[in-house]
Amino acid sequence: MTQHILKEILAFRDARGWGKAHTPRNLASSIIIEAAELLENYQWGESYANEENVKEEIADILIYTYMLANHLNLDIDTIIREKLEKNAIKYPLP
Ligand SMILES: [Mg+2]
Repeated sequence: MTQHILKEILAFRDARGWGKAHTPRNLASSIIIEAAELLENYQWGESYANEENVKEEIADILIYTYMLANHLNLDIDTIIREKLEKNAIKYPLP
């Protein structure tokens, strides 16, 4: 699943020649910008959130995150599993 969607993301990027602009710093900045766009939905309370826009901003965050991980040769599934293992140690079950 992850590899399929990553291929689609990279094909979209490469077809437009956007790869050169996608440095780690630019991608990390883009993740924060898209997260701010997501947060804007809740700026004045959860009842003001636009459901369609929330979906789009989550997708934007994930797209940039997948591209950053790919650029750094990191496998998303692996790094999530590794972090969950660390979290399980840090926050043991009661
Ligand atoms: Mg956006």
